[in-house]
Amino acid sequence: ATQPYDPNNVFAKILRGEIPSSRVYEDEYAIAFHDIAPAAPTHILVIPTGPYVSWDDFSAKASDAEIAGFVRAVGIVAREAGAVEPGYRLLANVGRHGGQEVPHLHVHVFAGQPLGPMLA
Ligand code: 5GP
Repeated sequence: ATQPYDPNNVFAKILRGEIPSSRVYEDEYAIAFHDIAPAAPTHILVIPTGPYVSWDDFSAKASDAEIAGFVRAVGIVAREAGAVEPGYRLLANVGRHGGQEVPHLHVHVFAGQPLGPMLA
């Protein structure tokens, strides 16, 4: 069972503009901004504008338009960040076992160097 959405999580505040972030993209369905503690030369987080705790919650409850809009936005951001060649990595941590820290769905976009077998 997914926890209820907490409207005061840090990414909700970033979405509302209550705390600063360096935004690289925004549209109706998603915003993207640089991770505060980058784990690669390029490390961007893409989040849906809707109140979804995780990938699990989003994939089960979001509308088709929200899902399509979010996936398109991740594609746009990743394409700009990494180019298709030499490439990039997408990651979504879910729940305790996944190591998710912030309870608003975010997809990590890593790029800018060969990324090796894993990068959390
Ligand atoms: P998770 O472990 O939940 O998948 O990843 C959370 C990510 O959010 C971490 O990479 C962390 O550095 C990043 N992060 C946490 N707080 C902030 C913040 O206030 N601003 C930004 N830009 N990134 C944050």
